[in-house]
Amino acid sequence: MANKESNNNDNNFFNKNPLITFAVFSVVMILVFKVLVGDGAGVNSGMSAKANKTQAVSYSELKSLVASKSVSKVEIGQSYIKAQSVDGLNIYTTRIVRGDTKLIDELDKQGIEYKGFSETNWFTEMFGWLLPFLIIIGIWMFFAGRMQKSMGGGILGMGNSKKMVSSEKPDTKFDDVAGVEEAKEEVQEIVDFLKYPARYVEIGAKIPKGVLLVGSPGTGKTLLAKAVAGEADVPFFSVSGSSFIEMFVGVGAARVRDLFEQAKKDAPSIIFIDEIDAIGKSRAAGGMMGGNDEREQTLNQLLAEMDGFGTDTPVIILAATNRPEVLDAALLRPGRFDRQVLVDKPDFEGRIKILNVHMKSVKMDNDVEIEEIARLTAGLAGADLANIINEAALLAGRKSQKTVKQKDLFESVERAIAGLAKKSRRINPKEKKIVAYHESGHALLAETTVGAKKVSKVSIVPRGLAALGYTLNKPEEDRFMMQRHELWAEVDVLLGGRAAEEVFVGEISTGAGNDLERATDIIKSMVQTYGMTDVAGLMVLEKSRQSFIGGTQQSSREYSDKMAQDMDDFIKESLKEHYDSVLSRLEEYRDAIEDMVALLYKKENITGDEVRDIITDFEDRNNIESKVENISDEIAQELKEDAKMAKD
Ligand code: ADP
Ligand code: ZN
Repeated sequence: MANKESNNNDNNFFNKNPLITFAVFSVVMILVFKVLVGDGAGVNSGMSAKANKTQAVSYSELKSLVASKSVSKVEIGQSYIKAQSVDGLNIYTTRIVRGDTKLIDELDKQGIEYKGFSETNWFTEMFGWLLPFLIIIGIWMFFAGRMQKSMGGGILGMGNSKKMVSSEKPDTKFDDVAGVEEAKEEVQEIVDFLKYPARYVEIGAKIPKGVLLVGSPGTGKTLLAKAVAGEADVPFFSVSGSSFIEMFVGVGAARVRDLFEQAKKDAPSIIFIDEIDAIGKSRAAGGMMGGNDEREQTLNQLLAEMDGFGTDTPVIILAATNRPEVLDAALLRPGRFDRQVLVDKPDFEGRIKILNVHMKSVKMDNDVEIEEIARLTAGLAGADLANIINEAALLAGRKSQKTVKQKDLFESVERAIAGLAKKSRRINPKEKKIVAYHESGHALLAETTVGAKKVSKVSIVPRGLAALGYTLNKPEEDRFMMQRHELWAEVDVLLGGRAAEEVFVGEISTGAGNDLERATDIIKSMVQTYGMTDVAGLMVLEKSRQSFIGGTQQSSREYSDKMAQDMDDFIKESLKEHYDSVLSRLEEYRDAIEDMVALLYKKENITGDEVRDIITDFEDRNNIESKVENISDEIAQELKEDAKMAKD
């Protein structure tokens, strides 16, 4: 740990003082150079060591020195000749005269030792040495510069090191942020604090230092943070968590320090950290890969900075994430990001408000019905809505219209939705087929099993990364408990997906993994927790399903091995039993499934009513009276008993 810290400091030092780095580097280079190269013209020749006098002579003089045998050793380079006097005290140098070949003959004749030498020019020598280093420095500067750009300033900001992080004074106001009323209320207090810090400090009120804005991308987290700064009329420092991670080890930490330094100097101020999960990811989660040094250092620096100033300093840190659950617990401790504000996707009313905000700057036709657009855009975030208005304006402009018409808005909505469906994941035809049958299987079971929740929507449009398709079920009324037959019905519905793959595709995919897990869990709870089976009778085997402590599941089994065995057998057998009955139901409703799949292929999303129409049609065609006949005997028995009890 100590080692790591000192390393960290070194980096900070050099990053902050590029001129010093360069000076140190140059001095070292020159020393190395001196040692290796020696001095000047004497370049790596055996003679220079002894000789103490170098004397330039003319070529003819040299020739006569040779002729008189006054020299003992001669070295011939490309453009110079050097000769050593017999006593070894003098070295004569001269330029070669091209075309004279007689010198060699003369040397031979006189029996003087001679050899060639490679002349190393002082300048080329040094350049040869420096070049690689210059290249390395160049590359370093290039990358460093690029990384700095995103945040303004630069490692090599030279004389300008004080202005490493740029701030702005946004004129965004709360009115520009629509549809997130609760979030606005929650941050109102921060605005007051930034405006009148003295009031709060005097009274001794503790204002949160860090507020986490939680919500999907495009819901207006950045906008809200800006509006806080705008309302309070304070500087807004904005960085993105991911921009720290591209940098070299230590740079992120240095940057965090500069950021806080600057923000404190300009206090009252706001620091906004977008995508904080990029640095704040739980350290435990990264443990398997040995962690990410850079991220950890940056995170440590951030924590240290947040702890480093008191609540009386009016600097508020707002951070945005859409995955608060991955954040390191250290970040969420009191005095850090101990407050979370949900910036949710807007509901119908919210969408109307957001659309209105963005329509203000656009000329709208009288035929525009904003409710209609809001209704069509369920599930979209503020950024999508802003985009829809803008796209519509572009469309209208292209058609040389004076105003944006409802038709343009429709077209724009369509595009946005198509784009979103595509963006999340493209599905290949084979997968599409599997998903269509799988989801139809769930839907059919949901509609033909007594006690199952009715289908509200079936979709083969991928949602997020995990789900390729989905079937939404809606309970008819709000439910706070479930009866036994309803739990079994849920098991059937869950098994319907996999069974449909088996019947219609002929092979099982991995897509049913989660379904089986849930089905198994339901049966297990029936045995262990709810006393609904004969396996354990009324005995409760598991107190609460939430027995996680410190991330590891507690295995406090308080029942016999035989009980465990019985339970396993029961779960396995009842899954098999239910699966078989589901298979035969699917066989029976084969054509209905095919109809659903055909419609899914055509529309990608089908409604619960469409599912029910298909099933009713099929039942009419085949004179199937009621779905109750298709439920398992066990449930039929139970229903009969229920009816009897009701009569009594
Ligand atoms: P986030 O930070 O949550 O990803 P942004 O704040 O960057 O989302 O939103 C991007 C843009 O979308 C904003 O600049 C704004 O034009 C629009 N926008 C998003 N949410 C809202 C909202 N609630 N009200 C008005 N405009 C919004
Ligand atoms: Zn499924």
